[in-house]
Amino acid sequence: MQHRHGRVVFIGAGPGDADLITLRGARLLAQAEVVLYDALTDPALRELGPQARWVNVGKRGFCPSTGQASIDAMLVHLARQHRLVVRLKGGDPSVFGRLEEELAALAACGIESEVVPGITAALAAAADTRRPLTRRGSGRSVSLSTAMTREGELRSSRSADTEVFYMAGRQLAKLGRRLRGAGWPPDTSVQVVSRAGCADRLASDHRLSDLAGAALLHAGRPTVVTVGAGAAPVVCMPKQTAREGHVEATGDTPA
Ligand code: SAH
Repeated sequence: MQHRHGRVVFIGAGPGDADLITLRGARLLAQAEVVLYDALTDPALRELGPQARWVNVGKRGFCPSTGQASIDAMLVHLARQHRLVVRLKGGDPSVFGRLEEELAALAACGIESEVVPGITAALAAAADTRRPLTRRGSGRSVSLSTAMTREGELRSSRSADTEVFYMAGRQLAKLGRRLRGAGWPPDTSVQVVSRAGCADRLASDHRLSDLAGAALLHAGRPTVVTVGAGAAPVVCMPKQTAREGHVEATGDTPA
């Protein structure tokens, strides 16, 4: 008889508080036998899978951590022993989540996998600060970029109306300079949000020319940097009421 492997489900935990996980993710956690989780995921998520063995394989910045190759090997090993293995990742697994390597390792061994999406940090930051990433007329495109190359170099670009940079928290001054070099004007709106989606989130507004000022405020916290159209505050538009003909302020997004 052919030996049957279990399957691995990658679940996006969302960027912060446990209740930002999807219902599908929560249901699968309740069925998991083992959960491999990242350091950034909320410890309260454990309550969604109390029956499972929880293994921390977290990687944070440049701290010593479980290497990618050993996580890949662990997934394969566990899937051969268990019916359902969950790989819980911060935010969305498909965004800067090293998902490619893990999917490839499973496929190479014929192990079935599935991906459950989550809320990525850029979207949580936009929601926290009520700054839509797309704007009618001025924000037609959004890019999600990592500021760091694989070799640890800082890169920047100007490829969309709104650009959100991940993994730039430690080098904000340099990012500001590089973005100006990439053609963004010095007075471009920039918003920096750390621990988006968490109760202790912090957001600050800047111009590209003074981005360095954000470094101290957000030091040591996971941070996204939103540049361009989606970083600007929503303007209160005076609205004409049809009945009385007077002007009142509303929080509506300008059309
Ligand atoms: N898969 C994750 C990203 C992992 S890469 C996602 O979809 O969100 C790690 C980077 O994500 C951090 O360096 C930081 O730039 C960003 N990040 C993760 N969680 C965050 C949070 N709660 N607030 C702000 N940025 C966050």
